[in-house]
Parts: sequence; structure tokens; C-alpha cells
Amino acid sequence: MSAPAVREPKPPLIWVNTLMFALTFGIALIATPWYGLTHGFTTATWIVALFFTTASGMAITAGYHRLWAHRTYDAHWSFKLFLLLFGTMSLQNSVFAWASGHRTHHLNVDDEDKDPYSIRRGFWFAHIGWMVREYPSGREDFSNIPDLKRDPMLAFQHRHYVPLVLVINFGMPILAGLIFGDVIGMLILAGFMRLVWSHHVTFFINSLAHMWGNRPYTEENTARDNPVLAVITYGEGYHNFHHLFAHDYRNGVRWWQWDPTKWLIGLLSFFGITRRLKRTPAFQIQKALLAMQFTRAQARLAKYPAETHKHLEPLRARLAHEYENFLAAVADWARVKEEWLNEKKRAVLEHWDQVDLQSKLREIERRLNLQRRRLRVLQAQLA
Ligand SMILES: [Zn+2]
Ligand SMILES: [Zn+2]
Repeated sequence: MSAPAVREPKPPLIWVNTLMFALTFGIALIATPWYGLTHGFTTATWIVALFFTTASGMAITAGYHRLWAHRTYDAHWSFKLFLLLFGTMSLQNSVFAWASGHRTHHLNVDDEDKDPYSIRRGFWFAHIGWMVREYPSGREDFSNIPDLKRDPMLAFQHRHYVPLVLVINFGMPILAGLIFGDVIGMLILAGFMRLVWSHHVTFFINSLAHMWGNRPYTEENTARDNPVLAVITYGEGYHNFHHLFAHDYRNGVRWWQWDPTKWLIGLLSFFGITRRLKRTPAFQIQKALLAMQFTRAQARLAKYPAETHKHLEPLRARLAHEYENFLAAVADWARVKEEWLNEKKRAVLEHWDQVDLQSKLREIERRLNLQRRRLRVLQAQLA
């Protein structure tokens, strides 16, 4: 563990965090197989552990992340209370600290000095290292969460964070253990093992989701879309989409993408528990996808010198033509939107006008969709 001689000294360790991560990890790793082999875990213990894992994991994704850090929807106070209870259980600091750091991450993504968990400082740093030392990039500054500071529920959680964490993390497994008759087993599996699993799964979003996967929407940052990560993170693996459209309550935006957090928020909206769900217009999503396809196709074409690959000329012409179509569609969309805004300002927009407008916009979206398919064929020819 000896550091190279010329390196700057590392900032001091944050002992509370270091011990907490090390002890919970050690206990979970040793006690779980030991107890499993010597006593065995009951079905009830497994079910409670699974419930706590899912509830605390989704309290981070649906609560800390999509509700509080990004305000992608509104929620009834009872659901907020649920999210706050299980979010506290997941031991990832108060909503104030989490959301403030996360907003900074989005604003300065990949900046080595300003992004609190920049992947450019390595996997370990982005995963957990940033929490165990007093790095200047991790300094708390709540000036970016004035909206959250007004919420008395969140202020209460922040003020009483440590006792709340202890009571919830020990109290709930012990209570469940008393009810189902296995306090030790419940503490190990639904307490320590659940906590360690949830920790590292969430941390993968800051580490792996910035290294491993595709970038279909933007290459301006390191965030990736990764369906494998989406499965273990309740949908947060679609991180490339998320970094471009952070105000959307969905991360896996396509219907077939695994995003249970999106499904939960959507389902609860039918009962009025969640409200004002923010969605990125389909056109904007198509536009981003297409722009990336063009960039890639053009880069691929540029690899072949024109004079030696004359047969690529028709492909080059088709790509240029498609690009013109694309720009025309983008301009059409902007024009229709502006017309609509003007009409709205003059308050003359009748219901049928809106229907008409929507069909016009949908028509442009269809054009882009077809174009995306044509581009995919064209790209295959280029490969
Ligand atoms: Zn990120
Ligand atoms: Zn985010």
C-alpha cells in the first residue's frame, strides 16, 4: 500500500465512514455464511430481507434520486414518509447531503475538481473512495438545494440523522426478528447483508455506470446505458439517457427497458399518490439518438479516404441527404411549437387546434423514427 514518493498527501480519513463501511462489509461477509451453515435462515427471514432490500433500494432511486435530487415528479406526503423511512435505512446520508452532492455531480460531471465522484479519478474513487476522505470536491454546500431546505420532513431527517439511522437499522430487523422468531438471523441477513448489498449496488451507478455500457444519447460525458446494471439498480442503469434528460422521471425510457422505479412512479400516479410526472418530449429523445447516429456514421465514413473508396460515394451522398432531412424535421418541429406558443399567448387555441397540433408533431416524430431505421441500415453497410 506504499504510495509513490512524489504524490501529494491524501486528505485525512473520515473515520466514521471508513469504519462503518469496513465493519458492515466484514460482518456481512463473515456472519452470513457462518450463520447460514450453522443455523440456516428461515423463509420469513429471506422474505423480510428481500423486502427491506427492495424498499430501501427503491427509496434511493424513486425518493432520494428522482423525487428529491431531480424533482421529476411530486408525491403525497405519505409516500414521501415511506421513502424517507427506507431511504434513511439505506444509510447513504441525509436527503440534503445526497441530493446536494448529486446535483453537483450532474452540473460538473467528469470534472476532476468539482464532480464529487468523478470517474476520471478512477473506479475506486467514484465507487466509495470519495466518501472515506475529506476531499475538497466532497465538501458539503447546501446552496443548491433551497427547495429541499424548505421541506420540514427533510429538515427533521437531516437534524436527527444519526439516531434515526441507528433506530431504523437495528430496530426494524430486531422487531421483525421478534415477530418471526429469529433475531440474530434477521439482523445478519435483513440488517447487515441487506445494507452492504444496497450500498454497493447504488455505488455502481457512480462507478460502473460511468465506465461500462453504450452511449446512445450523448458522448459529452462518461455516463453509460447498461441493461445489466439496470436489473440490479431498479432501472438506474440507463445512465446515459439520465445524464442528458435528468428531469425525466424515467431512466429506461423505452417500454421494454427494465426500469421498475419508473413503473412504480407511473403506477402510483393512477391513485394520485404521485403527480406531475415530467417526461421529455419524444421528439427530443429521437433528435438526440439521431444526432449520435449521424456523428458515428460520419466518423466511420471519414476513416476511408474518398479517392480510394469510390464505391462509398453513394453512401456518402445518402448520409448527407438524410442529414438534410433531419435538419428540416428539427426546423419543422421548432416552427410548429412556436406557432402553438403564439396561439396560446393569444388564447385562441381551441381543443381541435390542439388535436391538430399534436398530430402535426406526431407526424414529425414518425419521420424521425423512420429516418433512424434507415440510418441503422446505412450504418450496417458502413461497418
Ligand atoms: Zn452520473
Ligand atoms: Zn441523477
